[in-house]
Amino acid sequence: MNIAVQKLYPGTRYLSHRLDKEKLVIELESIQEVGECPYCGKVSSKVHSYYSRKFSDLPLKRYQTEVRLLCKKFFCLNDECKHRTFSESFGFIKPLALKTDRLVKEILDIYENNSSRKASLILSEMGISACKATVCNLKNKH
Ligand SMILES: [Zn+2]
Repeated sequence: MNIAVQKLYPGTRYLSHRLDKEKLVIELESIQEVGECPYCGKVSSKVHSYYSRKFSDLPLKRYQTEVRLLCKKFFCLNDECKHRTFSESFGFIKPLALKTDRLVKEILDIYENNSSRKASLILSEMGISACKATVCNLKNKH
């Protein structure tokens, strides 16, 4: 499991998973030792705190995938930066996003190639919940 996790979620480590009736819940923690301040670009290894992030990924055989990731907040050590702390970032998901980049891409691809009615049908059969408003939002961001 850990090898799959390292490929799917670079910068993290597998902790546990469980499968209930509707979804697969995967718990991960960050193993990134440094973070780059998104405001000034300076790298820091001084951890401020930990917090949990929750987001969806591509479903696995119709099971919705929910990821819970323990992330870090770092201190920005640049005196000239206006921000004292910042959240670490990951290559597979945008900051503050609730869906991974690959899930967003899948949803947008399906909407692009189908009527919106058909697309939402396909997505719900796949186990992806994305209403029209969500898709409009995603389109604007990507
Ligand atoms: Zn900074």
